[in-house]
Amino acid sequence: MTVTHCPYCALQCAMRLTPAPQGGLSVRPVDFPTNRGGLCRKGWTAAELLRSPERLTRPLLRIRRSAPLREVDWETALDHVAARLGELRTESGSDAVGVFGGGGLTNEKAYLLGKFARLALGTSRIDYNGRFCMSSAAAAGTRAFGVDRGLPFPLPDLAGAEVVLLAGANPAATMPPMMGHLASPRLIVADPRRSETAARAEEGGGLHLAPRPGTDAALAMGLLHSARKQGLLDEAYIAERTTGFTAALRQAAAWWPERTEHVTGVAAADIRTAADMLGTACGAYVLTGRGVEQHSTGTATAGWWINLALGLGLPGRRGSGYGTITGQGNGQGGREHGQKADQLPGYRSIGDPRAREHVAKVWGVEPDELPGPGPSAQELLESLGRPEGPRGLVVMGSNPAVSAPDSDRVRERLGATEFLVVSDFVLSETAALADVVLPSLQWAEEEGTLTSLEGRILCRRAVAEPPEGPRSDLRILSELARRLGQSAARFPAEPEAVLSELAAASAGGPADYAGLSPDRLAGGEALYWPLPDSASSTPRLFLDGFHHPDGRARFHSGGLSAPDEAPDAEFPLLATTGRLLNHYQSGAQTRRVPELAEAAPEAEVQVHPDSAHHYGMSEGEWVRVVSRRGRMLARLRLNGGIRRDTVFLPFHYSGEQAANKITNPALDPVSRMPEFKLSAVRLETCASG
Ligand code: SF4
Repeated sequence: MTVTHCPYCALQCAMRLTPAPQGGLSVRPVDFPTNRGGLCRKGWTAAELLRSPERLTRPLLRIRRSAPLREVDWETALDHVAARLGELRTESGSDAVGVFGGGGLTNEKAYLLGKFARLALGTSRIDYNGRFCMSSAAAAGTRAFGVDRGLPFPLPDLAGAEVVLLAGANPAATMPPMMGHLASPRLIVADPRRSETAARAEEGGGLHLAPRPGTDAALAMGLLHSARKQGLLDEAYIAERTTGFTAALRQAAAWWPERTEHVTGVAAADIRTAADMLGTACGAYVLTGRGVEQHSTGTATAGWWINLALGLGLPGRRGSGYGTITGQGNGQGGREHGQKADQLPGYRSIGDPRAREHVAKVWGVEPDELPGPGPSAQELLESLGRPEGPRGLVVMGSNPAVSAPDSDRVRERLGATEFLVVSDFVLSETAALADVVLPSLQWAEEEGTLTSLEGRILCRRAVAEPPEGPRSDLRILSELARRLGQSAARFPAEPEAVLSELAAASAGGPADYAGLSPDRLAGGEALYWPLPDSASSTPRLFLDGFHHPDGRARFHSGGLSAPDEAPDAEFPLLATTGRLLNHYQSGAQTRRVPELAEAAPEAEVQVHPDSAHHYGMSEGEWVRVVSRRGRMLARLRLNGGIRRDTVFLPFHYSGEQAANKITNPALDPVSRMPEFKLSAVRLETCASG
């Protein structure tokens, strides 16, 4: 029976699909290095999506915005889309159409979508939902190390460490099988909430540090300062393998433990203990997640956690390191192959003349035919329907009507777009706004590769018979490109052909897939990029030097910037968002799986009992969470492990329960990451949901 991988998160747990006695398919876990035979509930129930009664099987089209979507045949839908996209380009130029991709798309789809945007449409306006996920970590990692690969080491390496620090990451809920690799090390968890992972840390003799939201960089600086004062920094490593330490240390020197406690709320004694645990461990890792990265200061904040790791001499050594835990299924590969506003395939900068020349040659065009960088995801969405923005948008593998910050405004912009096309397998909230919806195949119905959180390239297999009607995204792009005047040879629809071209386009880039082949994939080899030739694979990066010309890692320096907004008398609490065990991202998939929907049917807001008492609220009642941007409904859940000044909201729900109605679209100046993790809010009672 063929092994494939889960449709959801970046752990990409291995599984088999077997015929179920009651019909359909059932999932069985497979022992694989990342999941070691484990699956979470989402994985166990993943086959249900394939038979969802809400599955789209025929294209939908509306003739005007006020008209309902009606089923049409594929020729009608594709002809209509190509004609309208062509009209918009003729009338307003090639930037008249934007493209919005997704971090769950396979490597082949991400690659072909980028090529479709830049060649078939000729637009610079392409970005994807990974901008909302990994962009701060990617920017900070690239700056520090010269290249960003989420975990630059195999996941099982973590098990050999004595201490692992997780800042803003909650794998016990978001990717439970990962905790198998964290069973032996003592854990230090930085999170304003006593998350499932923080609870494990405390139970295992580790530490939970609960910083006030928005003070993560101060905490990292305080830990670096404490490590210095306790004589725990690796001076030889710093001298031999890094640059910029003096400037960074000068800034960290102001963050003695008592001051750090005053700003972050983390006890000075715990800061000293955490620094000691990390600095004296025989093998330690610093891992960051979205909690510290999804801020308008996310790049700088991630940079300070990297500084801590560099000061302790962890990155680029066996048995220790720094990494960031990628969230989306192909969050790693999705950011490498050219659907990012500022990048070309191979994780190359779109502004690099040599990269442009290389990719243009593979694509059979001149370098000056390739557009330049475009706006980031949120800027693209906010410009829709405005004079300076695109008139049309093609969305593939994403649901920004729910997942983008300040989602009411984003829905308004999506509604203001003259022509919206969405490819999806269910009528997501974004698809429901579209002029044309193109029904796509699902994860287990088509072949494709993904790159896991550790940079390992995996194969998803076609192990389920698709229903009559849906088509692969590759075929959709190929057929649209042909209608827009491109040749079928330039836009193949077969994944093998696209992968072969992707490998050529990436050759020589940081994420070099040139040595990838179907045979190597089929043989089950552990293939980590870069793999520049057919014999190579790189499980561990940086052992011989970092990817800067001088081989040295860069310390980040820069003062602390305040979050975009602060609480006040009107909005006295800090809201932070995140994921629950039973759902994934915008919930478009998991809300349609009965077991998962029943287990977590409605939005909740986690509130400290003292805060709830202060506001006269109690467990289980419906409350309104109100920010300067909007309001949403959630059922109040008491949580004695959350800070009194903080509330936690899952972002998987839609309609009145959509957490992103209240989140802040303020952007990080480097990564253009919105401030998902910090919004000033107040709670209001309401009679019912
Ligand atoms: Fe594994 Fe993530 Fe799928 Fe859960 S959602 S089974 S952790 S890949």
